[in-house]
Amino acid sequence: MGEAGIYLKQLELGPMQNFVYLIGDPVARECVVVDPAWEIDTIVDTAQADGMRLTGALVTHTHQDHVGGSLASWGMPGRKVDNHDTLPIGRLALTFLHTPGHTPGSQCFLVDDRLVSGDTLFIGSCGRTDLPGSDPSEMYYSLTRRLGALPDNTLLFPGHNYGGPSSTLGEEKRHNPFMRFASLGEFLRVMGGGGRVTLS
Ligand SMILES: [Zn+2]
Repeated sequence: MGEAGIYLKQLELGPMQNFVYLIGDPVARECVVVDPAWEIDTIVDTAQADGMRLTGALVTHTHQDHVGGSLASWGMPGRKVDNHDTLPIGRLALTFLHTPGHTPGSQCFLVDDRLVSGDTLFIGSCGRTDLPGSDPSEMYYSLTRRLGALPDNTLLFPGHNYGGPSSTLGEEKRHNPFMRFASLGEFLRVMGGGGRVTLS
């Protein structure tokens, strides 16, 4: 249970060190699940044990280790969102941040000062950009502009346990090399091109 009136539970599930999140309003006792790809019973039981009602499921991106089985089988309608759209969860508002790069539709979720970052930003690293649909130049702008614009005290909750459970944006801006490249050109030299960008 987080401070500041937010319920946030991090569950490390499955064989690929995925973090699944329950996030919601402890007063309204409503939450959504983020990236429910593994051990659905554990997720549902955890919400129930905490007295929280699960009202929806969100995915940071559509790779199998984040989506798992079809969400349609839960009877939950799909949702098309744009950058900065919001979703009410009890008294809280969850903001969608479009952060392409790992996949074209990758997104992060911001609730007050908590960022659930999927496979865009990890502690000390970032998501792969060598997969089909990946775009290293988009990743650069997602990391340095969109996430880089968030306040330093923003708490970071990544999509995999590759460097620990949580960090802050300030910590990552100071120490994560992938947020610290001086130019797109330098980033692309490390991340392997991408083929459609002129090096600066
Ligand atoms: Zn992924």
